[in-house]
Amino acid sequence: MKPAIFLDRDGTLNRNCPYCKNEDEIVLYQDIFGPLAELSKTHYIIIITNQSGVARGYFTIDDLERMHAKIRREIKAHGGRIDAIYYCIDLPEAASRMRKPNTGMVEKALRDFDILAKTSFVVGDEDADMLLARNLGMRAIRVRNRQGKYMGDFYADDFNEVLEIIRNEEA
Ligand SMILES: [Mg+2]
Repeated sequence: MKPAIFLDRDGTLNRNCPYCKNEDEIVLYQDIFGPLAELSKTHYIIIITNQSGVARGYFTIDDLERMHAKIRREIKAHGGRIDAIYYCIDLPEAASRMRKPNTGMVEKALRDFDILAKTSFVVGDEDADMLLARNLGMRAIRVRNRQGKYMGDFYADDFNEVLEIIRNEEA
């Protein structure tokens, strides 16, 4: 058993593009690579992402899979690992229990992997990510975006700070 880092995707790992449609639009932040390689040694690394653009007809599941393949490929090339990517294609008004800040995607991950929930973290740039953590009783690290109502337990300007926070909390 080991803890997990539940990562948001857009605005957290890659530059925010409203409804990224293809892999060329996925531009990963350079600061994620070293820290994710480190965290891959001690944690499950799991992406949890709302992608209602599929339900809106802006892009397909195949497009989404191609974007995710690129993210996995680039992180792997830098010595890191993504254990799983869970996405929810539902519209907000569908009130899906899978869509963040609801906990369905993380609950699925907790069934699929041997995760120590108590010492896991949620890392994201928006209120929905902070509320997801709250709904799960997990600690939240807000990254790159100070504009919001829910600031989480910690704030990080980049992933070097995310790594520092997590290692400090372990000590
Ligand atoms: Mg985000």
